[in-house]
Formats: sequence, C-alpha cells, structure tokens
Amino acid sequence: MTETSSQGLLSIVGIGPGNHDYIVPAALKAIENADMVIGYRTYMLLVRKLIKDKERIQTGMTEEIERARHAVHEARSGKRVAIISSGDAGVYGMGTLVFEVLKQEGWKKGDSPEVEVIPGATALNSCASLVGTPLGHDSCMISLSDLLTPWPIIEKRIHAAAEGDFVIGFYNPASGRRQRQIVEARDIIAQYRPLSTPVALVKSAYRFRQNIVMTDLESMLDYEIGMLTTVLVGSSQTYMFEGYMVTPRGYQNKYNLEDGVAHQGQTPGISINHELIQ
Ligand code: SAH
Repeated sequence: MTETSSQGLLSIVGIGPGNHDYIVPAALKAIENADMVIGYRTYMLLVRKLIKDKERIQTGMTEEIERARHAVHEARSGKRVAIISSGDAGVYGMGTLVFEVLKQEGWKKGDSPEVEVIPGATALNSCASLVGTPLGHDSCMISLSDLLTPWPIIEKRIHAAAEGDFVIGFYNPASGRRQRQIVEARDIIAQYRPLSTPVALVKSAYRFRQNIVMTDLESMLDYEIGMLTTVLVGSSQTYMFEGYMVTPRGYQNKYNLEDGVAHQGQTPGISINHELIQ
C-alpha cells in the first residue's frame, strides 16, 4: 500500500477551445493546485498565468506517449500533476493515453495517484456555438486522421453516420500532407444527403485567427480546410436561418409554435404519432 502522504494526484484537464473565458473554473483550480503541469507548448501558453513558476514539461506534437508516461510517474511518486489538452482532454486527447499507461503499469484504484478528469468544451461544442445550434438533434464526431485508425474503418463510420442522418463534426479533417480524406468524406455524404445540406467550416474557434465559412455540401471544398478546422455537416433537417445553422429538435412535428398547443392527434408527454408528421 502506498502511504497517504505520498498519494499523488493526476488531473486530466480540458481547457476548452483556446480562450481563457471558456475554461471551466474547476480546470483553472486544478492547474493552480498542481505542482507540475504537462502539455503542448501552445496550450501551456494559454494558461501561463496560472502556471507561473511551477515545474512544467512542454513538448511538441509527437511525444505524447513519453509525456503520458512522465505524468503518470511523477504523480505516482506523490506529486500533483495536471496534464492539459485543448477542448476536452478525453476527446481525441491525452486523457485516454494516461489510462492506457496506468493500465499497462498495473495501477489499481486506491493506489497513488488519484485520478480526476475535468471536462472542457470540445471543439464540436465551441465550433457549434459560433454558428448557431447545429447540434440540436443526434450528432456524432468522426476524426479523419488515419495516422492511428485505418482508413477503411473511418470510411465505414462515415457511411453509417451519413445513413443514420446524424449531424457530423469532422475533427482532424486535413493537414499539409493529408488532403484526400475530407474529399472522400464529402463524396460519401453526398450519396445520402442533398448537395444543399448546410456545412460550416470553423477554424481556430475562440482563438486569434478564428475564421468561419458557412457553405454547403456542394461548395465546401472550395475553401481552405486544415488542421485547425472542424467541419460541421448538417443532417437532412438542418437549415440556415439569418446566417445561423439550426438543427431542429422536432417540436414543430408535435406542437404549434404560436400557441404551444399539440397538433391534432398528438399528446404531450407520450411518444409522437409519427404517422401524422408531414
Ligand atoms: N481534445 C480536443 C480535440 C483535439 S483533436 C477537443 O476536445 O476538442 C484536434 C482537432 O480538433 C483539430 O484538427 C480540429 O479539427 C479540432 N479543433 C481543436 N481545437 C479547435 C478550435 N479551437 N477550432 C476549431 N477546431 C478545433
């Protein structure tokens, strides 16, 4: 058994899209309380005022495994370590890797370190907020990066999401070397949805170089899509209204919006009578 005095704490902290105003207070507190902070240089800069003169490990993009191992070892030996990722640290972030390292090392609940996960607004949430309410109904995230996931699996998921009429948020849509995936993704969706389907390209949400393009399935490839872009593709129900992208929840299938009264044959509180939907 580890002594209580050497019980470390490993906080897996999401810091949101990249603007101080959109970090949850618990994440700020975890960073403030940490002895050591680990993360990509870019994200460390965002919270540098909190890090002050704490021990820190900043690394480049390809050293994730090393960084996760380091975080685990330091926390095991009794330190309070905060490992930070943009968005939510458990969503295509460092969080899972930390658990994989713990698992591999035979860590058990109750051992040092204690592990906590602090949520952050994902890129999907942040990007959606900048264009309206595109996530008003069922949605999913698909990463187009085939660096760790074979392309046939990604392709299968795009077909399933398109067929299931999900609003889709594409992460990692393209990079300098990877341009083909977003073209193929768009072509797959076009087999299931009209070319007029609304699409938003949100680059660097809540960051200095934020850029938003509202387009559609037909023209989306005419614009720049890169590593810092999230691509939001609407479902068959998504529409544009005064520049906003809206996916309805379905109220109008059941209620009259003018007086809130249920349509003839529909009853509040019970399943919708789908035979009456126009
Ligand atoms: N953990 C992060 C995701 C990291 S994966 C999260 O929860 O959001 C990296 C991908 O996320 C990028 O390729 C991009 O598609 C998306 N992304 C991250 N931050 C973004 C931002 N501020 N604006 C737009 N897209 C962003």
